[in-house]
Amino acid sequence: GCLPIEEMARRGEDTMRYGPLKPVGLFDARKGDFRAPENQHHRPYAVVQLRQEDKTGQLWNMVGFQTNLRWGEQKRVFRLIPGLEEAEFVRMGVMHRNTFLNAPELLQPTLQFKKRSTLLAAGQLVGTESYTAAAAGGWLAGTNAARLVLGLELVTMPPTTMMGALFDFISSASPKHFQPMPPNFGILPELAVRIKNKRERYGAYRDRALADLDGWLSRLRVSAA
Ligand SMILES: Cc1cc2nc3c(=O)[nH]c(=O)nc-3n(C[C@H](O)[C@H](O)[C@H](O)COP(=O)(O)OP(=O)(O)OC[C@H]3O[C@@H](n4cnc5c(N)ncnc54)[C@H](O)[C@@H]3O)c2cc1C
Repeated sequence: GCLPIEEMARRGEDTMRYGPLKPVGLFDARKGDFRAPENQHHRPYAVVQLRQEDKTGQLWNMVGFQTNLRWGEQKRVFRLIPGLEEAEFVRMGVMHRNTFLNAPELLQPTLQFKKRSTLLAAGQLVGTESYTAAAAGGWLAGTNAARLVLGLELVTMPPTTMMGALFDFISSASPKHFQPMPPNFGILPELAVRIKNKRERYGAYRDRALADLDGWLSRLRVSAA
């Protein structure tokens, strides 16, 4: 969800209610679970999630409110939200833009630069998206940097694992229109058989990845010995 909140609002009243303001998974200490039949009519229309930012609970971040609105307009519009009438705004909403390398042009799947193999890139800078992908890229680059210093062969993971597929994708996609990619099932190689049921299909991806990872780890142990 990187759309500005005003763009979502422009698309219709329900866009925000089914997006960042979706009132699901909530529990009210006074009323209990909103899914309970007796609480159905108490179910909130829409909910703004506030994430505590400081220890004392004076600063709260409004989740899902990336925006291009001018600061004065932000204060005016966001104070229309019940409960925020008196809010003091200390940091205004902005749109964030990821800075990323053109990985297909610059990087190998080991996360080494093609033109300078002792330089490695990590994190979302390599053209991945999400916390887990950034952490995974950090692990791969760090592991390979250490292996480089120790004179060991550098590693990439099996392409059937999400990490293997992701770093293979960013280093082999078309450089012309390259955009950051989050981990997703679409980048994994197809299964040998078609499985219609989604849950079972994802389970098959998992089992195949774990089996390949086992083989990969054993080979790594042998080569390290
Ligand atoms: C508003 C927002 C919401 C998000 N929500 C989610 C989410 O719900 N789930 C999810 O999976 N991902 C989410 N992401 C994406 C996620 O935050 C990033 O993919 C992840 O944090 C990237 O980690 P990183 O370590 O690569 O980079 P960063 O977390 O950006 O870390 C880079 C660090 O380098 C520092 N730095 C930069 N330049 C220099 C320099 N010259 N010298 C020294 N230090 C420097 C920066 O200060 C920063 O601390 C969100 C991102 C944003 C902006």
